[in-house]
Amino acid sequence: MNKRMSSPKTMQDVIRKHQFTLKKSLGQNFLIDENILNNIASAAGIDGDSYVLEIGPGAGALTQVLAAQAKKVIAVEIDRRLEPVLSDTLQDFDNVSIHFGDVLKLDLHQIIGEECPADASVTVVANLPYYVTTPILMKLLTAGLPINTIVVMIQKEVASRLQADPGEKSYGSLSIAVQYMAEPKIVMTVPKTVFVPQPNVDSAVIRLDVRKEKKVKVADEDFFFRLIRASFAQRRKTLMNNLVNNLYDKTQKENLLRVLERVGIDPGRRGETLSIEEFARLSDALGDRP
Ligand code: SAM
Repeated sequence: MNKRMSSPKTMQDVIRKHQFTLKKSLGQNFLIDENILNNIASAAGIDGDSYVLEIGPGAGALTQVLAAQAKKVIAVEIDRRLEPVLSDTLQDFDNVSIHFGDVLKLDLHQIIGEECPADASVTVVANLPYYVTTPILMKLLTAGLPINTIVVMIQKEVASRLQADPGEKSYGSLSIAVQYMAEPKIVMTVPKTVFVPQPNVDSAVIRLDVRKEKKVKVADEDFFFRLIRASFAQRRKTLMNNLVNNLYDKTQKENLLRVLERVGIDPGRRGETLSIEEFARLSDALGDRP
């Protein structure tokens, strides 16, 4: 029978047995709380038909819980030193396939294509390495992968940014980029004490349901995101000032004012008060130039 890696003592024993040293630079904070592990799996709604992609299995604590419930778990781990550890902790499971490499560089289309049936939809579940949370989420959301749901443990402050509404302090271009493609919902907050070693920050589990259709339709997606980045460039400045300083120039101020009036957006507002729908309207009205 597998050793349950959710027990702090077993985790310690396994780490010692394999003389594994945890690397802070790879965000190696391993989970040692059975309840939290089970809550993550249940928030993802995994069942016997599920194909799960886990990023960063570490010593396999979450992988064990996922493998016990899913049809198949495909895990991607950057640290090859974990190979003997994972062979040990996952020895009783024949439905786990591990790929060693950097998730940001690996071809996930190819991996999913090889590991899952052509029509399979994949659920991503992970306790993410915090130093690369945003690039990993953006890759998962923008690469056109067959992903239905993403349930991840991330830094609490980042989770708040993903879920933030217009006007909230943590609302910004990341909130819009994520909400454009998915519906975020913070499932729970998690104390530092359930990790070894303990991270410096609090954590949260967030569920992102990937939208079948983007939240808004825009004529030019690339311009839409340039407009949003420019509008948030200096948070204390008005929308008008940010657009003049970061996207256009002073000679276009009059034209900009006319367009803003036409779409019913007060130029004195700050970017952080605009909803995603308002940004879409403005983006389409401006085109590439006012
Ligand atoms: N899933 C384990 C758990 O919950 O105990 C470990 C989670 S730990 C926070 C993050 C894991 O991601 C580590 O095992 C680390 O080596 C791995 N990792 C870090 N950067 C990675 C990357 N770019 N690609 C794939 N895995 C990565």
